[in-house]
Order: sequence, then C-alpha cells, then structure tokens
Amino acid sequence: MRKRPLLTLKPREGRRARAGAPWIFSNEVAMTAEAKGLAAGSLVDVAGDDGRDFGSGYFNPKSLIAVRLLARENGARIDASFFAARLKRALALRQAIYDKPFYRLVHAEGDGLPGLTIDRFSDLLVAQITTAGMEALLTPLKMALDEVLAPSVRILRNDTPVRALEGLDLYVRAEKGEAGRIALEENGVRYFADLGQGQKTGWYYDQRDNRAFIAALAKGKTVLDAYSYSGGFGIVAAKGGAKETICLDSSAPALALAEDSARANQISIRAVKADVFEEMERLAAQKEVFDIVVADPPPFVKSKKDLEPGAKAYRKLARLAGDITAPGGLVLLASCSHNIPAERFAAECAAGLMRGGRHARLIRSAGAGPDHPVHPLLPESAYLKALVYALD
Ligand code: SAH
Repeated sequence: MRKRPLLTLKPREGRRARAGAPWIFSNEVAMTAEAKGLAAGSLVDVAGDDGRDFGSGYFNPKSLIAVRLLARENGARIDASFFAARLKRALALRQAIYDKPFYRLVHAEGDGLPGLTIDRFSDLLVAQITTAGMEALLTPLKMALDEVLAPSVRILRNDTPVRALEGLDLYVRAEKGEAGRIALEENGVRYFADLGQGQKTGWYYDQRDNRAFIAALAKGKTVLDAYSYSGGFGIVAAKGGAKETICLDSSAPALALAEDSARANQISIRAVKADVFEEMERLAAQKEVFDIVVADPPPFVKSKKDLEPGAKAYRKLARLAGDITAPGGLVLLASCSHNIPAERFAAECAAGLMRGGRHARLIRSAGAGPDHPVHPLLPESAYLKALVYALD
C-alpha cells in the first residue's frame, strides 16, 4: 500500500488526542507545507512529536478539527472491511436495545465513524455525510452497507448546510431504490416519514424515549404538541389515552403525515398549521390551557454567535408554554442546539417558566436515546436536551 502522509503533533500539543479523543485540532498539528497542500479529506497517519503513533484518520487543512481519527493505530486499512466491522458493532448495539429495525444505526464519532449518520427504517437506510473525509470514503462505505445490511433502498441525504464548510456540494440522491414515503414503528406506534422531502433524515429518532415518557403520563389529559413535525409526541400521547391532542407546526406536509399516522393508529388529533409563538400567544389571550405542553423547536442557537438571541428565544418559548399549561400540568422543553450549554438552556427554561412567582419542579432531564451514543471524550457532542417540568 502507498504510504500515507504523516502528520506530526506539535510538542506538548495533542493532549486531547493523547487521551484517546477522536479529534485533533488544527493548532495541535505541525502545519507543514506538505500538510497544507493536502486535499480536504485525505487519509493521514498521525504521530506525536516523540514519534509515537496516534492513529489513522482523515484530514482537512481548512477545518478547525484538522483530523478526525478513524483508527487508533497508524497505517490502519480504511476499506470496506473496516466499515463492515464498524457497522456490525453499531448494529449489535441497536439489536441489543430494540426489537424492531427502526433506529439511528450510525451516530458519527459515537460509533467510530466521524462525519456519518445513518438512520434505519427496516430495509431502508438514509445516510448523511458531513465531512470531505467521509465523502471520499463513500465507495467502501457503500460496499460495507450492502454486505452487512443489504438494504433495498439507500438514500444519501446530503443536503445539510454544514457540508458547504467542508467544500462539499448539497444533494439528495437515492442510490438504490426510491426515496419516498415510508411507515415506521416506534414505541408501538405507527408513524409516517417522507425520506426524500422530509427534514433531516426524515425522522427524529433521538426523542423516542422522551416521547414514551410523555405518552405514559398522557392518559385522560389534554396535550399540545408544539413543533410537532409528523406527530412524534402527539400521536403517541393520543395513543396513550390523551383525551385531546393538538399537533402544531408550520409545515403542512409534516402535519399531513401526522394526520395519516393518527388514522393508522385509530386515534384522533387536531393538526394546526401556525407559527408556534403566535399560536401560543393567541391561546394564552383566550385563556386556553393544556395539561401537557411539549415544545421541541428547531435549533434557536445555530452558531456560537446566536447564543444570546437564541437563549432569549428559549426563555420566551418557556414563558409562553408555561402560560398555556394548566395548574398541575407538565411542560417538556427541548433544545437540539449544539451551541447552547445544557446549564444555560435549563436556566432560560426556569426563568421563563417561573416568571411571576410560579413554582416549577424539574422532574426529568434527558437527552437523546441510546441509539445516539456519545464518544466518552466528546460529551459536548450530546446535543439534545429535553427537560420536563411539573408546574403548580
Ligand atoms: N417534535 C418533532 C420534531 C420537531 S422538528 C418530533 O418529535 O419529531 C421542528 C419542527 O418545527 C419542524 O417540523 C418545523 O416544521 C417546525 N417549525 C419550525 N419553525 C416553526 C415555527 N415558527 N412555528 C411552527 N413550527 C415551526
């Protein structure tokens, strides 16, 4: 095999890497002319300034995270059998947890495959690649997917804007079979997703356990599922015996999927197409309240510079959600923003809910489900926060 470029860590740098972290930052690497000249996504080996091996990975000279390590030894073969081994390990974890083949199969660094997420809908796979390095490895990845899972449909949902930062183009492509509407099962409930048109990979598996928590408390209650998408929380709450459920979202196609899902589960919901802030203000003005309010918005803090306005928006959402929650009711507030620390999000929620002296008790503080494993040295990559409060 042709020898790969060897990058060397600067003296005393690379402390994160030394501890086994999968990222090596640009300021930790000696940026020689050779290194600077490497194409984004090139496979490299990394050595410490003492010559010790740090492992093999892919490099992007323009990225703050210069190297994402794929293996702990130098010279590791990154080929179809490498991917097959990682996929089998990822699959074994999911099969140990779930009895149905609907889950996030690959969660990037958490599964040793940086830059890659794959959601599984039985024999349909939806993959999203976010780095030039993973894009360059698409061929062996596809061979491994066919070997390990033999999917009938394989969709590349490569339309996330972060790809532009890696110099990648944005596209959605059905590589095998056709992207379209599918049924999935979660918490014993049937949902629909549109794998070609829907958001992200089509379904947010990350909230599965939080949905089950709400559903278990929904019997006989009135529920508002704000930012419902295709009814993730609302449908399972109605199935759990909620006496009235509203799914509120600004997307008509998402609400249409929620309505179909309601029919398939023989329950009823009311789908309302509106802006959540405006609708919550309207409901509050009419003194309408719900026993359970769920608010799972899109990320309000998209980048670090949005922290203050985003934090303010979370506080406002908490205030509005609290205003329409009945005494003794529950509020679930979620954030999928990578860029707001968990403590800050919790502080904004508390400030919004406890306005005017109202008492709130935090009864559950959760994140994404176990099909979203986190690399133990990248705890900050656990992006989802879902807080449930009981209000007086
Ligand atoms: N709770 C959902 C996921 C929500 S994703 C689940 O369990 O699957 C965020 C949703 O917010 C999307 O469906 C998007 O259409 C919707 N959305 C974004 N901005 C909105 C707004 N201003 N008002 C209402 N809905 C909005």
